[in-house]
Amino acid sequence: MSASPATTNATRLFPMFADLRDRRVLVVGAGSVAARKIRALLDTGASIIVVALHAGDEVAALAGEGRVELVIAAFAEHRLDDAWLVVAATNDAATNARIAAAAEARRVFANVVDDSALSNVQLPAVVQRGRLQVAISSAGAAPMLARHLRARIETVLDDSLGDLLELFERHREAIRARWSDLAQRRRWFERVLAGVVPQLVRAKQHIAADVALQDALGESDGIGAAGSVLLVGAGPGDPGLLTLRALRALNEADVILHDQLVSAEVLALARRDAQFIDVGKQAGHHRVDQDGIHALMVEHARRGARVVRLKGGAPFVFGRGGEELQALRAAGIRYEVVPGITAANACAAYAGIPLTHREHAQSVRLVTAHCEQSADRLDWAGLAQDRQTLAFYMGVAGLERIRDRLIAHGRAAGTPFALVENGSRPEQRVITGTLADLPEVARTHAVRSPALLILGEVAALAAELHWFGAAPLEGRCRALPTPSLPLDRAA
Ligand code: SAH
Repeated sequence: MSASPATTNATRLFPMFADLRDRRVLVVGAGSVAARKIRALLDTGASIIVVALHAGDEVAALAGEGRVELVIAAFAEHRLDDAWLVVAATNDAATNARIAAAAEARRVFANVVDDSALSNVQLPAVVQRGRLQVAISSAGAAPMLARHLRARIETVLDDSLGDLLELFERHREAIRARWSDLAQRRRWFERVLAGVVPQLVRAKQHIAADVALQDALGESDGIGAAGSVLLVGAGPGDPGLLTLRALRALNEADVILHDQLVSAEVLALARRDAQFIDVGKQAGHHRVDQDGIHALMVEHARRGARVVRLKGGAPFVFGRGGEELQALRAAGIRYEVVPGITAANACAAYAGIPLTHREHAQSVRLVTAHCEQSADRLDWAGLAQDRQTLAFYMGVAGLERIRDRLIAHGRAAGTPFALVENGSRPEQRVITGTLADLPEVARTHAVRSPALLILGEVAALAAELHWFGAAPLEGRCRALPTPSLPLDRAA
């Protein structure tokens, strides 16, 4: 019975997109499967007739709203009379087969749900961006494969493509008039697509996009290269915490300027032939300084590159993102910002510590106290108040100072803390304890950067709610058997 692979369905389906507006489409069956197909048909403006013995809730509701015509009856051939397409979605195989045969005889295209042999039309998996559609077909042979691909394509196509299509359509006549030669027109499109117009559409600057497109039409030789900088948050390390927008930006980048905090796993997702510049690394004797970073961004954008400035966590949380945008603005370079998941958010989540909790904390503060000077500028009395969670960034070196000042301003010595080192990464460690012991515990466990300090009642929940990597290490310094050194000293 089994056909050899060489002879099975060597013919290919012909892909086409059908205009069904005001054309009759018959759907037989009105259960959940039929409802799914009807939903896909509604946007097309087809006039949909549903014939079924019983109607499920969704189809009944659509009929109530007048969006489909519902006929409670058994399928009869005359229902096909004015139809262009029929979808057989009954749960009775014999009925489905009868519908397919009747449709074939009348030259009406038929899709029989989950039966590619009876269907002469397959409904593809679709990725939609407005009126732009990508349809994927496995010829009905492996719909799951098509669905899998659909999910992957979803991640790479920007949401603004539908708007871009509308923009090009509005100027279609003008574009054709300007470039009657097809090859010239194609080259013009390529230049426009690599330039500022899609960026403006993505930033929802629709009027500016329109103007830029018209400018591009006016230029004799197309548009000069328009470089730009995307300030992108890379998140805490786990590449799964990148936003889709960040992933797309990494896929399109010509130049990537990245910090030390950006994980190798995230960089591995970027376009292979992009130029990677590690501005966090010791270059020669010192790492590239902030002015140097500004200069690099401007230089590459000016020569037309799509620059991604990739930062650990969120670019606007202790990331000097503001300064970088000011430098770009001063240089007249276009920019966009893609937020990332900041360390406080990620470390808390991956340690099982809710940052707020109805019983323990009504507010969260993101704080940095990396040196004496920055510590002096903080409102310690405010920070010492209870019922709030504090997330200290860059704090590993200043834990003593943090403990002393908080306790001096009245925060309870028994307040729980968690130190999250390498949050969200395979080597993540969580160390918990109470405020009084904070610096000693950190020293005992040799906590290293990058680490985030979470302080507040919620930190104690890690013991119960942890789920990622190793269980939290409890650091009760004073309860531990004391190492010999202090004893020797005492002697
Ligand atoms: N813009 C970044 C923060 C940069 S400051 C963000 O939004 O996360 C650098 C500090 O962030 C580190 O010293 C550390 O305190 C914290 N940090 C960043 N990534 C971290 C990680 N994966 N685990 C723990 N702390 C992290």
